[in-house]
Amino acid sequence: MGRAFVYLILGGGVASGYAALEFVKRGVLHGELCIISDEAVAPYERPALSKGFLLPEAPARLPSFHCCVGSNEERLDPKWYKEHGIELILGTRVKSADVKQKTLVTSAGETISYNILIVATGARALKLEDIGIRVSSAENVCYLRNLDDAEKLVTAMQMSNGGNAVVIGGGYIGMECAASLAINKLNVTMVFPGSHLMARLFTPQIASYYEEYYSSKGVKIIKGTSLTSFKFNSEGKVIAVNLRDGNTLPADMVVVGIGSRPNTSLFEGQLTLEKGGIKVNGHMQSSNISVYAVGDVAAFPVKEYGGVTRRLEHVDCARKAARHAVAAIMNPKKRSDFDYLPFFYSRVFTLSWQFYGNNEGDVVHFGDFLSSAFGAYWIHKGRLVGAFLEGGTKEENEAISKAARLKPAVEDLSELEKQGLGFALSV
Ligand code: FAD
Ligand code: NDP
Repeated sequence: MGRAFVYLILGGGVASGYAALEFVKRGVLHGELCIISDEAVAPYERPALSKGFLLPEAPARLPSFHCCVGSNEERLDPKWYKEHGIELILGTRVKSADVKQKTLVTSAGETISYNILIVATGARALKLEDIGIRVSSAENVCYLRNLDDAEKLVTAMQMSNGGNAVVIGGGYIGMECAASLAINKLNVTMVFPGSHLMARLFTPQIASYYEEYYSSKGVKIIKGTSLTSFKFNSEGKVIAVNLRDGNTLPADMVVVGIGSRPNTSLFEGQLTLEKGGIKVNGHMQSSNISVYAVGDVAAFPVKEYGGVTRRLEHVDCARKAARHAVAAIMNPKKRSDFDYLPFFYSRVFTLSWQFYGNNEGDVVHFGDFLSSAFGAYWIHKGRLVGAFLEGGTKEENEAISKAARLKPAVEDLSELEKQGLGFALSV
């Protein structure tokens, strides 16, 4: 017979750390809450892995970025969990779940039961094998999802010693890793199939600013193609990347960021899934009333998108959804629906951008694209629904956030362009 808990969080990432803090703030009793994670360390701020962790000078290392320092809250180190009577089961993979029996079974063979389960299993990096490319276990081909990956990447960077790095993918991982590799003085080439960087969010005009900036830092960008295969040396290390367009790039190391997939497999056939994730309602409650889901794995109704069910793979969403779920669990009489304003951001080199809302509709760019003070608004059905800003101050970022939240009417797009950031500042 295994252990039993009132509340069980499956996964030890960002959402898990923020849920734990919220449970404590709401008075969870000693012994009621357990977190189970296959990572060897307590929950940490995953965004640090592609930024501070990869710096050549004074890199960020645990325990400095345990949750919840990313929101200027307490840092929850392993001692904190102990002091609050929270059972932290680390380095332990859950291999099956039974939502009818309310049990999980770990790889060590223990059955753990719960009254309420919060699924916070996040997502995993899509692998080259998943798209039909053979890699074997080459030590210089890196992904970046967890601490082990980040440590492998740092080792590969050190072994490459100023050599050639090829980055596959022009999304979040591709952009942030390419910048970090360049800062570490590697010769970086990015390769992606689309026509510009960060096609999920950037307009061609926004992307061209970052593409020129990356070029000025020595990063080469090859668009409209992808890799087909690798060349290995006799030790099984990759030495070159073959591209679909017939070119071959020499490589001392490769970083792959071609998207991610939510970790839902334990619950397939047991919970309703949508958009690749676990479908939840506005309380983050799944099709089984004892099971909640938060973070990258959760597909929830996004009020800002007209109530359409979406998954958002971003840290702010994971933090807030986790808190919302715990509030709904601990205080069921005061439940309200999660009212989330989507917020995405990134920091590369000395640049820093933020985006709030919905990137749907007509786009109005503003500011000076020759300097790093520019932005864009998205206008849908006569209202401002999304806003992007590079290099904003705290006050300016708050202004675009407020504008995206309030959705002011916009009658004249050229007038909006003329007013630029001033429009958001006056909302
Ligand atoms: P995760 O943080 O991924 O945690 C999931 C946890 O579940 C992990 O501990 C995992 O090991 C565990 N787990 C999964 N399956 C099992 C199992 N069967 N048994 C036991 N444990 C299991 N977002 C931003 O908005 N801004 C950023 O700058 C940013 N930077 C990022 C940088 C990197 C390198 C990465 C990978 C992501 C970044 N993100 C960023 C995205 C953000 O980190 C995620 O949205 C966030 O971590 C999601 O939190 P989560 O708790 O849902 O998942
Ligand atoms: P993204 O979806 O951001 O980007 C995937 C990239 O891979 C795109 O450039 C896409 O190109 C490219 N791609 C897709 N298929 C192929 C292929 N067959 N060959 C080569 N390239 C391909 O995913 P990432 O991997 O960058 O990020 C993974 C997760 O980490 C996401 O959840 C992201 O939100 C999160 N993350 C967030 C950060 C942030 O918010 N600042 C920072 C780091 C990670 P194209 O678009 O041209 O088709």
